[in-house]
Amino acid sequence: MTERAYFDWNATAPLRPEARAAMAAALELTGNASSVHAEGRTARQVIEAAREKIATLAGAEAKNVTFTSGATEANMLALTPALEVTSTKHWRDRLFVSAIEHPSVRCGGRFPADQVEELPVAGNGLVDLHALRTAVARAERPLVSVMLANNETGIVQPVSQIADIVHAANGVLHVDAVQGPGRIACRMDELGADLVSLSAHKLGGPQGVGALIRRGDIHIAEPLIKGGGQERSLRAGTENVAAIAGFGAAAAAVENQTDASHMTALRERLEAGIKMATPQAVIFGQSTARLPNTTLFAVPGIKAETVIIAFDLNGIAVSSGAACSSGKVQASHVLAAMGVEPALARGAVRVSLGWSTTEADVERLLSAWNTMISSLLNKHANAA
Ligand code: PMP
Repeated sequence: MTERAYFDWNATAPLRPEARAAMAAALELTGNASSVHAEGRTARQVIEAAREKIATLAGAEAKNVTFTSGATEANMLALTPALEVTSTKHWRDRLFVSAIEHPSVRCGGRFPADQVEELPVAGNGLVDLHALRTAVARAERPLVSVMLANNETGIVQPVSQIADIVHAANGVLHVDAVQGPGRIACRMDELGADLVSLSAHKLGGPQGVGALIRRGDIHIAEPLIKGGGQERSLRAGTENVAAIAGFGAAAAAVENQTDASHMTALRERLEAGIKMATPQAVIFGQSTARLPNTTLFAVPGIKAETVIIAFDLNGIAVSSGAACSSGKVQASHVLAAMGVEPALARGAVRVSLGWSTTEADVERLLSAWNTMISSLLNKHANAA
């Protein structure tokens, strides 16, 4: 089989060699990190070293990093009324989530449905700051959740401006920063975020591990998973030492790779090539700040499924921006929130790349597109 070209990094990124090596080493260990003997202490050291690396990546203190099974769980852990700021000890009375959040945030976490409100975004995909200001003023102690960068469009939110608005209203800001590391700056002190969710598999670590990172004065009074006292009683259950080790190694590799210009150059070539072959293609969010690795585009009249399957047959993995269940592409809530016509949104194809993507990969995708597109357009013309 010829080698495939992988362009679905926003769904999951390939495992970094550093993460693979750290996991292989950790799998050789026997100890439970809660045990006092030497084996247990060694496992504990591996976990704590990884915690330090995640903290460095996020610009936080290691003691405020809680390992979870991924960002979905980190989001659920964060989004609870039982969230106290040390100075007041009051719980949160209302949750505001932007309309373009990941489903694990849009579901409202552990808030009763009648205490959750959606914040609109403008046509450019950015949270409407005026609507945010008005909304948080209606609550006494709001919790706001806005993502750093959208997984479908790559659009980056003005998080530090959002933080200023939320804090002026006595609020707490949670940021799902899953798509940020290795692509844009995501130190929580610079963002002004109070809580940040990360997922290992988006930054070159393994699937099934993530972290919730808190500012020092934020306290979660109700854990999501109760049991043993692991993770300072915030997340019970024996730690997944190998996965955590892989997460730490991937985070350190990301920390050392601050240059996103490689991805930007490839993405520009990709978009220019798509536009050259299909000038009618619409690239979503092109005039807004975006992640350097993400392109979401649609050609009027052509369905995303058709494009994804055609690419797949050519050895190229791309995705639709939207959730895909049982092979059927559903309408994207992100594009709907941006006011994109449903017919056009159904054609949205996401190409996301990463640090190991090559120019040859991009040329291969473009040459496949050039070959595929006339037959896809013909099919559309015949069906019309
Ligand atoms: N938030 C965003 C923005 C994501 O892209 C994802 C993964 N698709 C998640 C949360 C969930 O992460 P995990 O797979 O670690 O549960």
